[in-house]
Amino acid sequence: MTARLAIGLTGGIGSGKSTVADLFAARGASIVDTDAIAHDLTAPGGGAMPAIVAAFGPEFADANGALDRARMRTLAFSDPAAKAVLEAILHPRIRDGALAAAAAATGAYVIYAVPLLVESGTWRSRVARIVAVDCSEAVQIARVMARNKLSEAQVRAIMAAQASRAERLAAADDVIDNNDGIDALAPQIDRLHARYLQLRT
Ligand code: ADP
Repeated sequence: MTARLAIGLTGGIGSGKSTVADLFAARGASIVDTDAIAHDLTAPGGGAMPAIVAAFGPEFADANGALDRARMRTLAFSDPAAKAVLEAILHPRIRDGALAAAAAATGAYVIYAVPLLVESGTWRSRVARIVAVDCSEAVQIARVMARNKLSEAQVRAIMAAQASRAERLAAADDVIDNNDGIDALAPQIDRLHARYLQLRT
């Protein structure tokens, strides 16, 4: 059996990854969303919760057994060693979950939606092409402030922990310009979708 074509979709917070992923899905791609997998792993009964409780203590689980996200975010931001422990628990499980989802996918090809793809060597080596959703920092900040009800400083702090726009563009094989309205996306997605269909062996 030939392995299914795998594309990596990335972009900074608020760049429009989810919006773009939906448009590819509507054209027949299978989307494997690593953020959603990470969320499931830390939901009540999630596969990462026993290891998280063992490493950090029961106070990091809420009454339902889900990760206390606010508590973990505070710890991980202030303590790099704790962040590394959390990532060592989550990353292999996210990878395994993503590969299992891809193996079960029935779409024309698989798109891994990975916010930190450019930052991760393992994801880069697993995909045939990287497509980055790009917009200016001003547009990005405005979208995340509106969507998440955050201050500009809070959005900038999140962006500072991610690859820069220039780093992402340098790593990308394909770029989707999402500075304009939603209508400007469809022709770009159509073009890339046609190319990805051709790339299948
Ligand atoms: P990401 O998944 O990269 O964080 P989203 O796809 O969720 O980004 O987009 C961030 C926010 O901006 C969402 O509220 C989305 O509806 C909005 N958005 C995305 N693209 C556009 C666009 N071209 N025009 C206007 N709003 C957009």
